[in-house]
Amino acid sequence: MVKIFIDPGHGGTDPGASGNGLQEKQLTLQTALALRNMLLNEYQNVSVLLSRTSDQTVSLTQRTNAANSWGADYFLSIHMNAGGGTGFEDYIYPGVGAPTT
Ligand SMILES: [Zn+2]
Repeated sequence: MVKIFIDPGHGGTDPGASGNGLQEKQLTLQTALALRNMLLNEYQNVSVLLSRTSDQTVSLTQRTNAANSWGADYFLSIHMNAGGGTGFEDYIYPGVGAPTT
């Protein structure tokens, strides 16, 4: 069983980036919920936990503590940048080794 922790960035009193009538906190939650459904419906031996499932304020420490106490194998924090960049970017914590495919 692979335990995947999905963290929709921001939420509650922290809207994240805003633009074009959109708030980052809403987009990250929608993306996380869709990803959870895809993982649970299309894969086997996957367990998914989200740091929030509604518009809640959750501190960074609360998010990582929840993932660690659950024993997550993978932690994914979702964000939508609004700094003028294009395309996709990711940051992988180097302390855990290369991701396996
Ligand atoms: Zn963000």
